[in-house]
Amino acid sequence: MIQIFNTMSLQKEEFVPLVPGKVSMYVCGPTVYNLIHIGNARPMIVFDTVRRYLEYRGYEVKYVSNFTDVDDKIIKKANEEGVDCSVISERYIAECKKDMAAMNVRPATIHPRATQEIDGMIQMIGELIDRGYAYVRNGTVYYRTRKFADYGKLSHKDLDHMRSGFRTLKVSGEDEKEDPLDFVLWKPKKEGEPFWVSPWSEGRPGWHIECSVMSRKYLGEEIDIHAGGEDLIFPHHENEIAQSEACSGHEFARYWMHNAFLNIDGVKMSKSLGNFFTVRDIAKQYDLQVLRLFMLSAHYRSPLNFSHDLMESAKNSLERIVNCGTRLQKLSAGPGALTEAERENLTKADAYRVQFETAMDDDFNTADAVSAVFELVRFANATTADGTVSGEYAGALLGLLQRLSDGVLGIKTVRREEILDAEVEALIAERQAARKAKNFARADEIRKELADRGILLKDTRQGVEWTRA
Ligand code: AMP
Ligand code: ZN
Repeated sequence: MIQIFNTMSLQKEEFVPLVPGKVSMYVCGPTVYNLIHIGNARPMIVFDTVRRYLEYRGYEVKYVSNFTDVDDKIIKKANEEGVDCSVISERYIAECKKDMAAMNVRPATIHPRATQEIDGMIQMIGELIDRGYAYVRNGTVYYRTRKFADYGKLSHKDLDHMRSGFRTLKVSGEDEKEDPLDFVLWKPKKEGEPFWVSPWSEGRPGWHIECSVMSRKYLGEEIDIHAGGEDLIFPHHENEIAQSEACSGHEFARYWMHNAFLNIDGVKMSKSLGNFFTVRDIAKQYDLQVLRLFMLSAHYRSPLNFSHDLMESAKNSLERIVNCGTRLQKLSAGPGALTEAERENLTKADAYRVQFETAMDDDFNTADAVSAVFELVRFANATTADGTVSGEYAGALLGLLQRLSDGVLGIKTVRREEILDAEVEALIAERQAARKAKNFARADEIRKELADRGILLKDTRQGVEWTRA
């Protein structure tokens, strides 16, 4: 039985999906105006691991994660470079996907983009106006928070206290709102900004409406898990709840999961503070599997401080896992069937699987799950030390290690053999020939095989260029 700490109830609850055997999950994704930093990578790695574990437990998971591709920061960057906003967002979506792949974060089932969902947003804003949950002032549409009786239920904040604080600190331009906590659903364009036509003004949506719309469109009115970093609890997720529940009349998401911050010297890593490392920076120094193991070595609800020492220690830990996996792989190619003693050892090794599952069942305690993997590694090393084991025994241990480590944690256990330049060239030649013969299936297969081995292809007018990822 899986227990999930639900930010809504502030308790661990038994996970029971809406539809037996299926899980619908929405994770708020990044705003794409720059390379992602390793703080942004924390929710990606954490919730990818949650998804993998749910799949390991036999659930079919539909995982939706958006790209916010219309936003002040994107507009500012586009103006600085003198290009269209879509140039900026396309560029950083592509870069983000590369980082995700390098961190072994699987692509979502669907990655919707805000700019492609504007019609749905206009539709939902219209529904909110019709139901009295939204009002229009000079082309701006605001959400009427007072009307939504449950406003504040996720963030457990004293809203009256906040409201009175806001009143004394009134910001200019806020006077047209009925309540200081009312938030923007639609705003009129300013000079030089991208815009869409709506019944209220030529303009663009506020930030919060996109997630309500995409979640409803791709997962339905009620979903199992909604997740993101803890800074999203208020106001973003609170506002999503207000929007979605005002429209549907019932619960939006059953389990709310939030990861704690990745800090640096005890302070949240963020673009605005400038105290960040991009995933790309880290990739110059480390295999990103090290970053992934570093992240998973802490529980996702504990703050995690980034440091060189912890990364070095994660690097050594990764080395231990990979040495074991690579060795088991070699041994597994050897001859021999299980001996009686080996059979007994496999029963003992299975205890580490149980330990791993117990940890993951307890609100995805990856810190303890990683420890269980290390104990398995130690056991595997100890029982194969003399190198005389049967191939079947080594293979069984490797299979177990891979199910837990590669499968759930996303930590690869077997060292990738370096692919030689000549081999790459030969495969590229074969791919060109396949294309010429219009055998596109084979051509795609070769591209994929190369990608799996870390080789990226770029088709140019001069021919195929390739690089190592
Ligand atoms: P943003 O692009 O700022 O909307 O952030 C994308 C995701 O990264 C959100 O789920 C944020 O909560 C999360 N996030 C941003 N900074 C950090 C951090 N320092 N630690 C953990 N999560 C973060
Ligand atoms: Zn969101």
